[in-house]
Amino acid sequence: MGAQASATVNPNAKERVVGPIILLGPPGAGKGTQAKFLVDAFGIPQISTGDILRDNVARKTELGVKAKAVMERGDLVPDELVCDMVADRLQQPDCARGFILDGFPRTVRQAEWLDGQLEKMRAGKDAQGQRAYAPPVVIRLVVEYNQLLQRLTGRRSCPTCGLIYNVYYQPPKVPGVCDCDGTPLVQRRDDTEEVIAERLKAYEQLTLPLVDYYGSRRRLIEVDGNQPVEAVAAQMFGALENVNRV
Ligand code: ADP
Ligand code: AMP
Repeated sequence: MGAQASATVNPNAKERVVGPIILLGPPGAGKGTQAKFLVDAFGIPQISTGDILRDNVARKTELGVKAKAVMERGDLVPDELVCDMVADRLQQPDCARGFILDGFPRTVRQAEWLDGQLEKMRAGKDAQGQRAYAPPVVIRLVVEYNQLLQRLTGRRSCPTCGLIYNVYYQPPKVPGVCDCDGTPLVQRRDDTEEVIAERLKAYEQLTLPLVDYYGSRRRLIEVDGNQPVEAVAAQMFGALENVNRV
């Protein structure tokens, strides 16, 4: 699947400096699904703030203890906590050619913080290194509300390899079991109708303003996320090619 969608990508893409790519969209838009294609094509890491937070909750770290109740309600974790977490992650050597941000930034304050952080990281680098921390390309996945509800209630994932399935749209070959490693699939605690409604409300109020933030800076690329997975990926790679990221 990944190989097909990224067939047109430059074969040197796994050595080149790609720079930051942001996947922007509501919960269920397909950010995690599309991030995997980008990881395959470019060999740069996916940084999912939701995944990192869930890992902290599971390990009962100080951050996880602070975030748990907020996440269970469907609200956003405070900006300071999330930005500190992202700052640490961006220092890792695997981010040196670029990285894919999935679920971050989610507020205008986070976006402003990120711009400042990238500027700091750019300073003092050579031309190659500077590109890794250049202003991000932002891919907005646009999906209709009812489709989001269906995707979120049907989402299942593999706790071992992270593959994402959907009982309606991308079912595993054997119901309830990962195709890759046979692990029983799990449903996220916040993928219940009540919490989904809160998460979509938080998106509308706090994250949607980022469309203007990045649009006015001419960094936004819109992709029709209502299409089947592979068609979304093809449109996304086409758009990245147009801005010379492929
Ligand atoms: P996000 O990371 O934006 O919350 P996911 O990538 O986890 O979204 O996708 C949410 C659910 O929708 C998953 O169950 C996934 O399998 C499914 N999905 C993703 N993209 C599509 C698509 N283009 N068409 C149908 N279902 C999709
Ligand atoms: P996600 O996996 O992206 O759907 O995120 C799951 C939950 O983690 C969200 O509902 C928030 O509570 C929290 N979260 C993830 N990313 C952020 C972020 N950038 N800012 C604040 N909270 C976040």
